[in-house]
Amino acid sequence: MRIPMMVGNWKMNNDNDEAWDLAVAIAEGLEDLEGCQVVVCPPFTALVSVGEAMEGTDIALGGQNLYWETSGAFTGEISAPMLTSCGCEYVIVGHSERRGRFGKAPAEECLLSVFGDNDATVNKKVKAALSGDLIPIVCVGELLAERQEEKTDEVVEGQVVAALAELVEDEIVDVVFAYEPVWAIGTGEVCEAGEANRVCRIIREALAEKVGADEAEQMIVLYGGSVSPGNIQGLMEQPDIDGGLVGGACLKDESFCELAKVAAEVKGE
Ligand code: PEP
Repeated sequence: MRIPMMVGNWKMNNDNDEAWDLAVAIAEGLEDLEGCQVVVCPPFTALVSVGEAMEGTDIALGGQNLYWETSGAFTGEISAPMLTSCGCEYVIVGHSERRGRFGKAPAEECLLSVFGDNDATVNKKVKAALSGDLIPIVCVGELLAERQEEKTDEVVEGQVVAALAELVEDEIVDVVFAYEPVWAIGTGEVCEAGEANRVCRIIREALAEKVGADEAEQMIVLYGGSVSPGNIQGLMEQPDIDGGLVGGACLKDESFCELAKVAAEVKGE
């Protein structure tokens, strides 16, 4: 049985004081929550204070990115051991904003990525996370142009396979995937629940090719892209969506807590 998961990606929001306040409010709001693994991913600068604010709760801490080397002359980068030393158990890998695949921008513009993540670096980061005792939450998803060209399945499957290159079964089973159609991120335009489920199923089938159907059935596949209290119920009712990766709606404690509660309730039925 899969335990639902609700991940809050704070992106580049909240200084230390704001982060503390939001973390305390989330911890209080979810005090009685059971049946949903909540993960909060603040900016690196707030990891320690958010960890402190959530001490004694079941809420886990995650980074938003990592570098694949463990230490050295890599100015501005953060390694897996650094994240675990701040209390992280999870790390987001390959978010579309880091792959340079933005909103509804045309494919040519998206190639001008400022952060440079691509299938090869995502694979290195997944490996670094796993060897550093972090669970990677790997983001995959198509651009609007790719969906219009009916390339969604091919793009998503390709990203899943590339992220897992050279990994063995025992490692793959720990990886969490998040289907995040790029055109749905931060746009208010959520993917229709049945279609989101269909693509999450495709991800699970790609995983089954690697680890076998039984193991793939135990793996967590999330949906992300304009998740809100208004659409969470329908998404959680889908059999292959195990939870959400949330941006905008995780910045307010009321809405984020609501998402986690609905996930627990729907999946617990
Ligand atoms: C995200 O940042 O991964 C995301 C899905 O953002 P939003 O919920 O704002 O669309």
